[in-house]
Amino acid sequence: MTETSVFAVNPEVAENAWVDEAGYFRLYEQSIADPEAFWGEHGKRIHWMKPFTKVKDVSYAPDDLHIRWFQDGTTNVAYNCLDRHLATKRDDTAIIFEGDDPKDSKHISYGEAYEEVCRLANVLKAQGVRKGDRVTIYMPMVPEAAFAMLACARIGAIHSVVFGGFSPDSLANRIVDCDSNFVITADEGVRGGRKIPLKANTDKALEKCPGVDKVLVLRRTGGQIGWVEGRDLWYHEELAKVSDDCPPEEMNAEDPLFILYTSGSTGKPKGVLHTTGGYLVYASMTHQYVFDYHDGDVYWCTADVGWVTGHSYIVYGPLANGATTLVFEGVPNYPDASRFWQVVDKHKVSIFYTAPTAIRALMREGEGPVRRTSRKSLRLLGSVGEPINPEAWLWYHKVVGDERCPIVDTWWQTETGGILITPLPGATPLKPGSATRPFFGIKPVMVDADGKHLEGACEGNLCIGDSWPGQMRTVYGDHERFVQTYFSTYPNKYFTGDGARRDADGYYWITGRVDDVINVSGHRMGTAEVESALVAHAKVAEAAVVGYPHDIKGQGIYAYVTLVAGEEPSDALRKELVQWVRSEIGPIASPDLIQWAPGLPKTRSGKIMRRILRKIAENDYSNLGDTSTLADPAVVDDLIQHRQNKR
Ligand code: ATP
Ligand code: MG
Repeated sequence: MTETSVFAVNPEVAENAWVDEAGYFRLYEQSIADPEAFWGEHGKRIHWMKPFTKVKDVSYAPDDLHIRWFQDGTTNVAYNCLDRHLATKRDDTAIIFEGDDPKDSKHISYGEAYEEVCRLANVLKAQGVRKGDRVTIYMPMVPEAAFAMLACARIGAIHSVVFGGFSPDSLANRIVDCDSNFVITADEGVRGGRKIPLKANTDKALEKCPGVDKVLVLRRTGGQIGWVEGRDLWYHEELAKVSDDCPPEEMNAEDPLFILYTSGSTGKPKGVLHTTGGYLVYASMTHQYVFDYHDGDVYWCTADVGWVTGHSYIVYGPLANGATTLVFEGVPNYPDASRFWQVVDKHKVSIFYTAPTAIRALMREGEGPVRRTSRKSLRLLGSVGEPINPEAWLWYHKVVGDERCPIVDTWWQTETGGILITPLPGATPLKPGSATRPFFGIKPVMVDADGKHLEGACEGNLCIGDSWPGQMRTVYGDHERFVQTYFSTYPNKYFTGDGARRDADGYYWITGRVDDVINVSGHRMGTAEVESALVAHAKVAEAAVVGYPHDIKGQGIYAYVTLVAGEEPSDALRKELVQWVRSEIGPIASPDLIQWAPGLPKTRSGKIMRRILRKIAENDYSNLGDTSTLADPAVVDDLIQHRQNKR
């Protein structure tokens, strides 16, 4: 694709930001030259009960793999997120709750959040939950979901949050995998005006989980639910029985904080384990610098707490920084497609962080729903979850941000705990579609298929050469899978599974999953590039491309295309799109087959599952792999029915 334009740093933004461009390079070089000194200093940003004396103890060698940060320090995450702020911020807003119903919102102060978390922690203790026990949280997007996480952290229990959109089966698998015996849920959730039967799903899941002996139920809607005497407890009743005095448990830096299952885009979800000290240091530091958070900002991340983005950038990062974080129960298009921007105006949101899938969905509705809101309070926009195609980036910048707000395209993973590659608003000239440069302490290494290091401008597999405090420590209950998945392909490096291009300015462009790379007549191509070209066509809303066996080229390009609302598929349009991609990228990238797709198979977090599309393109439906994280399984049947054959 043709090199895109560069958006220079706004000098005013740079002046008020934590770091400007010179500051970035200075700090980055320090962080790489002497990680011990750098993290020894920045590790102090959180409160330690017993200060650490050792900073880093890491080996990536497969036969001696260990990752330890601040290992002799002790702390408590809930203390850092709440107690620590009481002296100066007791009455400041910790959480703004915006309900699914636009009439339903409230502010929760640090003092109020602290009291509720202490009570909830006492309830857990009274019910026999102990340090190290696994507590499953299956909740709607309400403040109590964050309270539940923090209550676990307060007493040293390990939480496993399961996205409230998951089925009973998916919930059961995750409960069993981490051998959890306590579940926190709600009677029902509400999203887009529809009720979600969380308690009924839990009841169903628990038929397969004999180990669970208590279920704490938040009353959200008051809807009819089943009840198992002796097992089920009402949240409000139990909280009323206990005191709000609950001293935080003294935790070692390397004690587990939570388990979280990955989205499952590439296969069976992995139970990613994060620990206490390093995770919090990294989540809070990235939250401050990447979003350039200052006191007085109103910060909104639209993710669900069921994903790592919700963990690090709705709950732990912001609260550790004493920020005001918005928790949104609803969806982008309810009551209408203006909702995000109405919420921005209502609460004067200054920092807004969302996913490309949401941006593309809103783009389909045109500019009207955005333009009729003010959005004057916004000063920074963020993106996460997938490569953001330049077309969507430009729309986000122009229409949503009125060309005023820098966009931070943040690349990271459940495994990384926090953002690894990203612009900093005061420091980084932006290129639409590029996650730009590494955060402090992050050493990206590009390798070819044989593991040979690539220098300068190149394209290859993205690895990280050294550890950072927020890195995952193991796959829960399956350390061998941890070693195999991340540290065996390329020795002494963490392998991300993503492909990337590095340009002459040292900017990173994520090209997609390495498993998804297409090889056409010997030319390797990332999926992101071809998809971006398709989406850049005015009639295309979304696209996913995969390779399929091709007699002459080795692999051909199979494109699934969703058209903008109101556009009709036709053979003429098919030809037009092939021509379009030829001129955007080159003949080598022109799709061999285009299938019209009313919908694409996506994970519950909105990522396209190309491995399923690849199976369909290959005409092999027998083994679609783990589809439990699919948002809408019906989409797959439709795609199979309308599969394109070689012409
Ligand atoms: P699984 O590992 O089970 O297949 P997953 O990789 O989808 O699931 P996540 O940890 O939620 O689970 O997603 C991380 C992945 O999302 C990254 O590896 C990358 O492919 C993609 N990603 C996230 N943010 C960005 C971004 N800003 N640009 C490009 N890709 C991104
Ligand atoms: Mg992954």
